[in-house]
Amino acid sequence: MSVVQPLLDLQEIDGRIRDLQQEIRDIPQRKDQEQERLSGAREALDHAQAELKNAQLRVSEVELEIEARQDRIQALKKNQVLLKTNKEFQMYNLEIAKLEGEIANYESRQIVALDDVIPVKHRVAEAQAKLQEDQEAVDAYTAELDARLVAVQEELAAVKTERAEAAKKVTPQFMFYYERLLSKRWPVVVELGDDCVCGGCHLVQPPSVGQMVRRNQGIVACQMCGRILFMKQ
Ligand SMILES: [Zn+2]
Repeated sequence: MSVVQPLLDLQEIDGRIRDLQQEIRDIPQRKDQEQERLSGAREALDHAQAELKNAQLRVSEVELEIEARQDRIQALKKNQVLLKTNKEFQMYNLEIAKLEGEIANYESRQIVALDDVIPVKHRVAEAQAKLQEDQEAVDAYTAELDARLVAVQEELAAVKTERAEAAKKVTPQFMFYYERLLSKRWPVVVELGDDCVCGGCHLVQPPSVGQMVRRNQGIVACQMCGRILFMKQ
């Protein structure tokens, strides 16, 4: 067995710790990405709602035009009874007829404007339904991610306990070297191939290094990357 076997055992645990820590770091980002998925549906809804507002505005504009003419007709009719000459009476009639013609015109525009509102209302309802559907999917997935985060944190705590036990089996001198390298290199302990190549940086080691690794008596580091080398015994 290689003298660095306890370190290899430790490294296997550290590998799991790294994966779990990476997952913990990734979860908030994955949640953000989920939220971003909603922005398209939100934009579609905003757009449909703005369209609806415009369509409704056109309806009320036409209504106002009609009302203004109706008021004017009322006023003309009120004054008409007070008129003295037939000529004036006829002029009022002409004016009223003109206004009524305009009203008829506006009423047909009103029908068109009201017809325009219907499909836009449909689009708003569809966009609302789509957003709600997306929101539900995102909420469900976010809840899954939250649950996963709790599970990963628990697992990490358990693996760290496991690591503390495994670390006890490593001689302090080896531990010191390993820990110092751990922040800079991954993996720290690598196999030296039959061709004397470092399994980390792939540099061919001098024969003396290969001999030392084969002797299996202590830590032998790669000449280039400093990784701890081992050979399968
Ligand atoms: Zn190397």
